[in-house]
Amino acid sequence: MLSTVYLNKRRRPRIEAGHPWVFSGEIGRVAGDPAPGDIVKVVNHSGYLLGIGYINPQSQITVRMLSWEEQDIDTAFFEQRLRAAYQLRKHVVEDNSNAYRLVHGEADYLPGLVIDIYDQYAVVQSLTLGIDQRLPQIIEALQRVLSIKGIYERNDVTVRELEGLEQRSGFIGTEFDTSVQVMENGFPMRVDIASGQKTGYFLDQRENRAAIAHYVQDASVLDCFSHTGSFAVHAARYGAKQVKLVDISETAIDAAKQNAKLNEVEEKLDYVTANAFDYLRSVSDAGEIYDVVMLDPPAFTKSRKTVPAARRGYKEINLRGIKLTKPGGYLITSSCSYHMSKEEFLDVVAEAAIDAHRSLQLIEYRGQGKDHPALLAAPETSYLKFAVMRVW
Ligand code: SAH
Repeated sequence: MLSTVYLNKRRRPRIEAGHPWVFSGEIGRVAGDPAPGDIVKVVNHSGYLLGIGYINPQSQITVRMLSWEEQDIDTAFFEQRLRAAYQLRKHVVEDNSNAYRLVHGEADYLPGLVIDIYDQYAVVQSLTLGIDQRLPQIIEALQRVLSIKGIYERNDVTVRELEGLEQRSGFIGTEFDTSVQVMENGFPMRVDIASGQKTGYFLDQRENRAAIAHYVQDASVLDCFSHTGSFAVHAARYGAKQVKLVDISETAIDAAKQNAKLNEVEEKLDYVTANAFDYLRSVSDAGEIYDVVMLDPPAFTKSRKTVPAARRGYKEINLRGIKLTKPGGYLITSSCSYHMSKEEFLDVVAEAAIDAHRSLQLIEYRGQGKDHPALLAAPETSYLKFAVMRVW
């Protein structure tokens, strides 16, 4: 018998609208004695069934919904969800790429679960207790859906602590070489799934990397926050003359050098290991100029409270980026902070242009790749902003 979570009367009807989160303050009472991680029924104040989910009393998000009807949450359930997720990827991931996100958590109706595929290897993140407890079934379901040679878990993420989970990472099952070579938009890239950032690579920008082809022909390019050089290598392979990469991480720059070699574009790339804020200031003061400036910083804010500080960060780098772009050139600017909306982000870039006494034409606006779907009912699942501006 499943325990039953009664929601209170005052809450907003978020669950009814398809958002999968029940916050602790929305719960009226719990009938039964569920253990942390257990599946519970979620009903409204008068007992009407809204669906089922897993519970973690320690988390502010106390229940995450898994289904809008009563059903067994077993290997077959996960297999069905993974098959649906894989079907989408078959439709939207081009044949010239074999690294993609298979499961994008809430947006694939599997809250708390991320699965990234790197050729024949999978990287798994279980961000919640309910998912962590069910990893064995999920792994089995994954192996039924895809022929996977090796699985690695990157559960070394702080959000797990909100769920009372420890951080850990390592092989699930057989060990393998974690430096994996994948294909992205037809270009080979080496990804270290054990030590790279996130699950090893920023898969969400794959389609945006392909989109830069229009703007980089014969260009001098500055790729700021380059990580392992994916944008830089794309630019070079799409015909850029020269690309300078800037990243604070020595490891990322070393990996970028490997990717340049793999793509035979070593002679086009220069590397700077530096804090981008300092570097951008010094080169813009020195009057350097590029045909294309790309900015892809880490999330400057992970909560609503720090948005004002993040705005200042985005404004500063965009101001510098605009100054460094020659008239008629392109600023290609991203933000992955979901607390900053598209409108807020474009506002900040517009303010930066005013301060730089320059004018911007918005040429292209994009978001995360199609293998990172956004659940319309859950705005949190839509986070990446990518804009191409012509700078005058
Ligand atoms: N453009 C990359 C992803 C960038 S992620 C890609 O497409 O793969 C953000 C990167 O910014 C990380 O590699 C991180 O090492 C770097 N970074 C973080 N803070 C930085 C800073 N202050 N200056 C320069 N790089 C920074």
